[in-house]
Amino acid sequence: MFSNELINKFQPLETPFYYYDLSLLKSTLEACKTASAKYNFHVHYALKANFDARVLETIRSFNIGADCVSGGEVKRAIETGFSNKAVVFAGVGKSDAEINYALDQDIFCFNVESIQELEVINGLAAAKGKTAKVALRINPNVNAYTHKYITTGLEENKFGINQWEFDKVVAALKKLPNIQCLGLHFHIGSQITDLNVFKSLCIKVNEIVTWFREHHVEINVINVGGGLGVDYYHPDTKSIIDFETYFKIFDSFLERSAIQEVHFELGRALVANCGSLISRVLYVKNGQVTNFAILDAGMTELMRPALYQAYHKIENISKANSEKTKNYDVVGPICESTDCFAKAVELPETHRGDLIAIRTAGAYGEVMASNYNLRDKVKAVYGE
Ligand SMILES: *Cc1c(COP(=O)(O)O)cnc(C)c1O
Repeated sequence: MFSNELINKFQPLETPFYYYDLSLLKSTLEACKTASAKYNFHVHYALKANFDARVLETIRSFNIGADCVSGGEVKRAIETGFSNKAVVFAGVGKSDAEINYALDQDIFCFNVESIQELEVINGLAAAKGKTAKVALRINPNVNAYTHKYITTGLEENKFGINQWEFDKVVAALKKLPNIQCLGLHFHIGSQITDLNVFKSLCIKVNEIVTWFREHHVEINVINVGGGLGVDYYHPDTKSIIDFETYFKIFDSFLERSAIQEVHFELGRALVANCGSLISRVLYVKNGQVTNFAILDAGMTELMRPALYQAYHKIENISKANSEKTKNYDVVGPICESTDCFAKAVELPETHRGDLIAIRTAGAYGEVMASNYNLRDKVKAVYGE
């Protein structure tokens, strides 16, 4: 909810911009920390969700680890002050340069996605006289019941090592002296709202951990990835996710010994709700069937609706108390038909100059911005 004071503060600013509510971010981080600390769980923040400098600095100040999917992210995490001992590095296509950089930084763990990658990391580590610590990213074949573009844990997916390759992996590990296998890694998809999915994941993980231990691979680290979804429909009443219930599922269903560490990689759940994309209405086109509200923000600032039909709540914050409403297709200025935030949105009667807030845009929003159509880089504004 935007106060009148905040809307007045927005009024003279050039749009579009991302607004980050840092105080909501802090409350979210606090809730996550408290809930995970109960079980001694280790949390890493997935930088790819949002790497805005002030957002990152706020997250770092909570002593959370970093989950990176490129050398650039490893570098950004280290430069921001995340401890190298709490950096994990995943990704199906790590280049030699990225692996070398991460080896130089002595990161906590590479999440390795194939046998070939294990061999490459072993060779590069050997050349430096180092031992690389790794976790094997396993494809557990658990359906995340999320959008097909953001599910990653089913067979025939480019991510991870499949069950039919386990024997080969065990054999490979024996022949790679510069690899130290810490354990296993899983990440089955994003925006998972059915918590039963995590229960199924735990049960599958238990089986897989047992299999590896029976084959004489010690599993000291179990990294269950991220994917916890947020409520895009209720940004004000459900602004902080129920971390308690989430972590309790893992405590209840994941078998672990006293020496086994459990790690999580949360992105969206930590940052989605603290961000909104603020934009102005440039033009209103009243058609015979469809009315269009044409904004000064488009898919170049927030790509999720165009990329995977994602829903974001849209509000006309200039007319919050207006009674009369109309339906609008809310679109951007980019020369693509997919540049549409939502169709037939009920809004107060809308006019040129009105401020529009596109909510729950803190994750996978600003980070996916592009300068297609030679658009300016989108700015950020912060609330304390
Ligand atoms: C993207 C990603 C995450 C974070 O996913 P969220 O859905 O934002 O929680 C965690 N781990 C890996 C390996 C990822 O690629």
